Amino acid sequence: SILRFAQMGLGSYAERVGNAVKESTRAKITGLISGSPEKLSKFASKYGVESDSLYNYSNVASIKNNASIDAVYITTPNALHCPNTIQIAEAGKHVICEKPMAINAKEAQKMIDACQQNGVKLLIGYRMHFEPITLEIVRMRQRGEFGKTLFFQGLSGFIIGDPSQWRLKKELAGGGAMMDIGVYSINGARYMLGEDPIWVTAQETKTNFEKFKDGVDETITFQMGFPSGATASCLSTYSLNYLDKFYLTGTKGFAEMQPSTGYGPIKGRTHLGEIQKQHITHQARQMDEMAAIILDNKVPEIPVDGQEGLKDMFIVDAIFKAVKTGKKINIQYEL
Ligand code: NAD
Repeated sequence: SILRFAQMGLGSYAERVGNAVKESTRAKITGLISGSPEKLSKFASKYGVESDSLYNYSNVASIKNNASIDAVYITTPNALHCPNTIQIAEAGKHVICEKPMAINAKEAQKMIDACQQNGVKLLIGYRMHFEPITLEIVRMRQRGEFGKTLFFQGLSGFIIGDPSQWRLKKELAGGGAMMDIGVYSINGARYMLGEDPIWVTAQETKTNFEKFKDGVDETITFQMGFPSGATASCLSTYSLNYLDKFYLTGTKGFAEMQPSTGYGPIKGRTHLGEIQKQHITHQARQMDEMAAIILDNKVPEIPVDGQEGLKDMFIVDAIFKAVKTGKKINIQYEL
């Protein structure tokens, strides 16, 4: 069967997902939610969405009565993920919410609770969890091909443009580069090493105080420690381009990915040579797999549920605390 979903927040990523979904064999856009009537009609004609499946932010609760919509894919600014998710859960629809799941662990937990109470599933837009080269490296690590993995390096960044965009406003973004791009290194460290960090240390540097106001991080370097004794060293920045690299190393081998999380093609190389896989459109594969998770209860190799998103938010909270206090912060994974 087909997952019929509505898009909420019709910005640039919604458009990318909308284009990709044409290649999906299991997902289809059957509804749209936007504050802009122009965007609603533009996207509706592009995707062939019926006029009775178009909503704005004031009447979206009535999506409850729309039998042609199974789920809502939220691509609004970060700070809206929590209120939007709660609203959709209360309307009885499954939620696919973009990363970062929320702007802190407390909000992420509220989202999980709302979805649980309303009997709907909550998935986070972790497209890399379905990407073939990533999965091959994770399987190699699981088979022990790298030996005992003891170190991960994650570099995530790009030079951000327009200084007036929501990504540079704390109220809407919840932070700066860390929330937007640093989360790829956090999440990547976890799936590449296959464990969750127990402590973090972090340092912030700023070169442009005008563009990156209080609470909006430009550059953060951070380190994480894991139960096995492995460590990770990461960089999150809005001031360097083409920064998209993962490096995993163990006692018997290594894996290097560059680019590691961009839209692709992803490149992966290990001590055994280059990993050859055909490039797939990430968002198309993601929607095929998410349809199977929602409709068939398929269990993905790397989780994409609310608990997975919540872990990343606990780590982000700890990193911000480490920056502020200058101290090593132990991560508790509970509120
Ligand atoms: P964008 O600015 O292009 O789109 C955001 C949309 O939300 C706009 O259409 C805007 O009109 C709408 N919106 C609704 N309420 C708003 C409000 N109160 N203030 C401002 N805008 C409001 O941003 P984007 O790049 O599409 O990012 C959207 C989300 O998707 C973010 O959470 C981002 O982290 C995520 N994202 C994920 C990926 C990925 O690869 N998984 C890539 C890009 C973006």
